[in-house]
Amino acid sequence: MDNKAHLWRAWWKEQVEPKIPVLHSLQMRLALGYSALIAALLILMNTYPLLMSQNLMFRSQQTALANQAVVITNALTTADQLTPAGVEQSLSQVEDLNVQRILITDEAGLVLYDSQENGVAGKYALTGEVVAALRGNDAFSSAYQDGLFSSRGAWPVMNRNRVVGAVCLYETDGDQGALLGELQRNLRLISVVVCLAVLALFGAFSTFLSRRVRTLLGGIRTVREGEYTHRISMSGHDELAQLAEEFNQLTGRLQVNEEERRRFVSDASHELKTPLASIRLMTDSILQDASIDRETTREFVADISDAADRLIHISQELLELDRLDQGRDLDRRAIDLNEQAEQIGRMLAPLAESAQVTMTLTLGEGCLVRCNDKDAGQILKNLMENAIKYNVLHGQVDVTTRRVGDKVTLSVTDTGVGIPEADMPRIFERFYRVDKARSRAAGGTGLGLSIVRDAVKRHGGEITVQAGQPAGTIFTVILPAWTGEGETT
Ligand code: ADP
Repeated sequence: MDNKAHLWRAWWKEQVEPKIPVLHSLQMRLALGYSALIAALLILMNTYPLLMSQNLMFRSQQTALANQAVVITNALTTADQLTPAGVEQSLSQVEDLNVQRILITDEAGLVLYDSQENGVAGKYALTGEVVAALRGNDAFSSAYQDGLFSSRGAWPVMNRNRVVGAVCLYETDGDQGALLGELQRNLRLISVVVCLAVLALFGAFSTFLSRRVRTLLGGIRTVREGEYTHRISMSGHDELAQLAEEFNQLTGRLQVNEEERRRFVSDASHELKTPLASIRLMTDSILQDASIDRETTREFVADISDAADRLIHISQELLELDRLDQGRDLDRRAIDLNEQAEQIGRMLAPLAESAQVTMTLTLGEGCLVRCNDKDAGQILKNLMENAIKYNVLHGQVDVTTRRVGDKVTLSVTDTGVGIPEADMPRIFERFYRVDKARSRAAGGTGLGLSIVRDAVKRHGGEITVQAGQPAGTIFTVILPAWTGEGETT
């Protein structure tokens, strides 16, 4: 139901959100690109084969006419001078003449013979081809128009290396023209079909694509508005489906962060509220009771001071977490973990004594870590203090350091109350406490282990927790050792 509401909201937003201008849309750009490509292909398809076929046909006509011309010029070449009668006679001896029109001129271009009725015999035919032929060159031209191939050519008639006339041949071919016309029509039809098919395919593809992109955009906008529970549902395995999956994972992380942030704010307010409320209660009691004696007032003021101390402690730990979050003081130097452990051991000795807990330090050789004073101090202090705070009467705390290769291991083992298995994954969360009453009584805030984890992580280390045997808890921290190579102190 909730998801449906999101989908509707995403759809509605999609309708009212300013749309991408048509010219800038991916769909339009794709459409323009494809149209240009298809148009170029169709133009090529409609011109290149036709031009090639025309060319072939012109060439075959040229060869056919040239062959005929050779036969005719051979028949005429015996005469010194061409005359109409001589030409007629020579032509009558030639067999298999298969040309639409034959025109024969003398050396001056005067037509001596024209095979066409009502032709131009007796007139001058000084066309470009004839002039070229009379100068001793072969000439040929052809054209294709209205489904008709027409070609004409002129060849010189030679006698003893002298041009004595010209043979001019004309041919028109309707059959091949009709074939070419049909080819042209077929190509046009194929082009239209291809165009329609491409348009239909492109339409379907671009609708599919833009629907998917719109779904993505809608989802992103919904999440942008703060709906971190929204997930994009997209079928298939293409890049967009992968993008949606990645986006969903990112949103998942945002949701977790957001939930953590809300929980943190709520927990922090709650933590601050308790001491503030007791300060308020005690000040009210003092103010409202005019007959309150000096001794009781002193007790109340002492309690107010304790509550203020608690507030200061919480805010110090919050500031410490903020320092780690912000990545401040990230200088890394060679820190002697043993020296720090001894120093903090001395500092915590009174606490251990009052809790009747024995603390032993077993410190290995060469335990220099790549860290800084403040962070190493926080790690050691919080772990060792917890081991004392959550211990039993006459309990034991063992702090061990050991250098293994390029790592240094710190273990803080206690024989205390232990941590239930179910709570172990959560103890590093901010404000998480297993036994709230005991933690509060011991002045705990539930932030100590979060600080330890953040400090360890930012120096490239790791921290683990496990139950001690037969009781208690073991915290193990592994930090990178100071190798001195390429590092400065
Ligand atoms: P706190 O300020 O309450 O000590 P921490 O973050 O240091 O907060 O610890 C979180 C919780 O984990 C504690 O409240 C306590 O319940 C539990 N805990 C931490 N260290 C130990 C330990 N050594 N033995 C038993 N419980 C522990």
